[in-house]
Amino acid sequence: MTVTIKAQGNIAVITIDNPPVNALSAHVRAGLVKAVEQIDADNNIDGAVLTSAGRIFIGGADIKEFGKPSQQPFLPDVIAALENCRVPTVAAINGAALGGGLEVALGCRFRVAGPDAKCGLPEVHLGLIPGAGGTQRLPRLVGAVKAGEMVTSGKPLSADKALAAGVVDAVFADELLENATAFLQDKLAAGDMGVGLSTVTTLPNWDAGQFAKLEAKTKARARGQLSPVKALEAARAAQELSFTDGLKREREIFMECMNSPQRAGLIHAFFAQRQVAKVPGLDMTKTRPIKTVSILGAGTMGVGISLAFLAGGYSVGLFDINQEAQEAGLNRIVKTLQSNLSKGRITAKNMEAQIGRLSTVFDMQDLSNSDLIIEAATENLAVKKSIFRDLDRIAKPGAILATNTSYLDINILARETNRPSDVIGMHFFSPANIMKLLEVVRTDTVSDEVLATVMSLGKTIGKINVLSGVCDGFIGNRILKAYRKQADYMVEDGAEPQDIDRAMKAFGMAMGPFAVSDLAGIDIGYFNRRREDDARPKAERYSRIADLLYEQGRLGQKSGAGYYRYEDGSRTPIIDPVTTEIIAAERARLGITPRTFTDGEIRERILYAMINEGARILDEGIAARALDIDMVYIHGYGFPAYHGGPMFYADTIGTKAVYKKVEEFAKDDPYAWQAAPLLKNLAETGGTFKGS
Ligand code: NAD
Repeated sequence: MTVTIKAQGNIAVITIDNPPVNALSAHVRAGLVKAVEQIDADNNIDGAVLTSAGRIFIGGADIKEFGKPSQQPFLPDVIAALENCRVPTVAAINGAALGGGLEVALGCRFRVAGPDAKCGLPEVHLGLIPGAGGTQRLPRLVGAVKAGEMVTSGKPLSADKALAAGVVDAVFADELLENATAFLQDKLAAGDMGVGLSTVTTLPNWDAGQFAKLEAKTKARARGQLSPVKALEAARAAQELSFTDGLKREREIFMECMNSPQRAGLIHAFFAQRQVAKVPGLDMTKTRPIKTVSILGAGTMGVGISLAFLAGGYSVGLFDINQEAQEAGLNRIVKTLQSNLSKGRITAKNMEAQIGRLSTVFDMQDLSNSDLIIEAATENLAVKKSIFRDLDRIAKPGAILATNTSYLDINILARETNRPSDVIGMHFFSPANIMKLLEVVRTDTVSDEVLATVMSLGKTIGKINVLSGVCDGFIGNRILKAYRKQADYMVEDGAEPQDIDRAMKAFGMAMGPFAVSDLAGIDIGYFNRRREDDARPKAERYSRIADLLYEQGRLGQKSGAGYYRYEDGSRTPIIDPVTTEIIAAERARLGITPRTFTDGEIRERILYAMINEGARILDEGIAARALDIDMVYIHGYGFPAYHGGPMFYADTIGTKAVYKKVEEFAKDDPYAWQAAPLLKNLAETGGTFKGS
């Protein structure tokens, strides 16, 4: 039995026990209806407490039922039954009450919570809105503005915040069930039967101005995603319509979201995130213990990586060959922690603990105590080779030696040591304390134990690990290079950088490729291209525009101008006539008559270059599965999750259609548009990347 009732005097305790997360599976829904029927028929019962076994109240819908026809009883009917129960009910929220879980709690007359409770409606992340009355009951409890914030962000509230917002009536530090029962007895004694939220006609806390602001903010943040905007539309309906009409509206909007292709993309992203951690054939049970981590190089990346490990509870030693850089790095770490404190993201105690675990390493020899050393020094093969020779000499036996290189060949670095099985790539993204993606780069020689250790370590510091083979730029930067070239060619041929950025943002990318260059620094790409000069094939088209910007000292945001110009202290790109002039002069020098590009063509050229390079990466076994590439792009490069990632997106367009376009583009530039064998094969056989 997954739902049980136990009478304690005149109070019935209903317990849901459906491990691992007490999901609202069909048998749980049926059990809840039966429990209400039983209570309704038992005159000895005056009230009921609804709680769950385990550490989660109700985690939400059962993901095993996703995509299948829903089974009766339907959740809205279960919640209506609960709300209409003869006796008052209290939800004793003993852990996360998410999605349908919170909607069930909203069907109770009262809600109390334990200290670890989390209350949230995260449906928006799966392209949906709450569909069991949540968008109508929550505004009736806390007002449409607060409810609107919750349904659009999908972020759960902690117990304290839920109490402050009025989502729960009380928080108890311990003995939740006993306290919930006592709470209910007090209510009964006072004759307070609570309120069924569907009966509320005047909603609390209405503020039209605040709601309009929330609407504007939600639209801007959604970047083309439908569900947050739609969720807010439902919350507005709660304010404007009766409960019955609001519920109908909620259903209509829910179905609209359910049938949207965005939902399919988000569901793919959701399942891919679970699958990406599972490396086929890798034994994750054999790992090395990691307690102390050292970071070599206290620049942008060293600082971010240190912060990520400090937040994850590790002791971190920071070393830089340049003492000034080391001091600056340490100061940046402390400043970031202080800013996290002032923004309420960490407690003072936590900040002190993190600073306490941070140490400065002045002598490279002192890295000998570390279980893991991550090299984040300047991107230069000679520098890194010398560092790995030194680390081989200094590090204790069994220490893992990792590099954060963006492009360089880690097999070469491994060969510099006498312990190539301990050398691995850990490619973090900037800012490393915030960005979720970690590309774990598997060298030819790394041991499974080291690989498993790093994969599980990444998880403990909250990263999404994607396994990549060794190649120039690994999965992410290699694809970036391929589509970035297309963007450069289009600019040379007549598009302006801002046209391309606008078209890609309209597709849902967090930033356009040229704004990204300005952020990362135009010097980075410049030095990369110099590294490749000797090996660049003659047939490859080369655009000099980025080099010209570099040569004029236009390095991007850090120098106040790159493709765009930036006002002091601002990161907002402003179209710069100087750039327009540089581009026009280069076109004239090349004898190019500029032509126009529609947003559609811009998107096709960029996205299909991404997909084609992704297919080649799969061909070569650099990525094991298409979903690995999707995860890299969603979590490292701002690709909209609602399109499911570039390879999933290719499947929605159809591999045949993508291949046809690639062939068409190849007529003008056969070198850049050589179709990957996998793409050609899928197109010819009607296959998909998902199924490949
Ligand atoms: P950075 O220039 O900000 O910092 C590099 C630091 O390394 C400097 O402080 C320098 O003094 C130090 N250093 C140089 N030689 C050293 C040595 N022998 N021993 C110890 N320290 C030494 O560079 P960054 O942006 O932090 O990049 C570091 C590495 O991370 C590079 O390999 C880069 O490709 C990679 N990376 C950078 C980004 C990014 O967005 N910045 C993203 C991913 C990976």
